[in-house]
Amino acid sequence: MRRAGRRHVLRGPDRHPFQKGRVAIIGDAAHGLPPTLGQGAGLTLMNARALNAALARSASVEDALPMWEQTVRFISDKTQRWSLRYDFFTRQWPTALWFLRPPIIWAFRTVPALNRRMRIADQGMRLTPLGLPISHG
Ligand SMILES: Cc1cc2nc3c(=O)[nH]c(=O)nc-3n(C[C@H](O)[C@H](O)[C@H](O)COP(=O)(O)OP(=O)(O)OC[C@H]3O[C@@H](n4cnc5c(N)ncnc54)[C@H](O)[C@@H]3O)c2cc1C
Repeated sequence: MRRAGRRHVLRGPDRHPFQKGRVAIIGDAAHGLPPTLGQGAGLTLMNARALNAALARSASVEDALPMWEQTVRFISDKTQRWSLRYDFFTRQWPTALWFLRPPIIWAFRTVPALNRRMRIADQGMRLTPLGLPISHG
């Protein structure tokens, strides 16, 4: 029996908040990505570590969660945007411009400035104050 494939269209960045009150969402539920960049699980772990750091710096969970989202959200948003761009290049690139595809994909993979932007989650918490050691002074 033949089964029809199902295709889900991913859009992003998501506009919904990642937290409310004492509840935070992490992982694909918060920031689903096309798998093209291989960053989804890494981004999830980075957000979880940042959440832990925000909780350690805050007097209450209610204080920590908005600070956490405000501080690290841009990393999820940028990763989503880049994964969607890369997904477009790999799956929807116009046939008439096919000849341009290999050099563009090569550039994404090898030009350090581009690659750093695409894989911003790899730099993770180092880009935010949550990556700094806690001062007890
Ligand atoms: C093809 C592919 C390749 C990938 N490669 C990489 C990679 O190389 N590197 C990387 O970092 N990331 C990669 N990812 C992304 C990574 O797999 C996801 O970002 C990661 O699994 C997200 O984890 P999660 O726990 O948020 O969600 P999930 O792993 O999706 O876990 C959610 C769980 O909740 C369960 N669930 C759903 N609804 C309910 C319900 N109502 N009740 C109870 N349980 C429920 C699901 O069954 C599932 O087990 C890839 C993804 C894909 C699809």
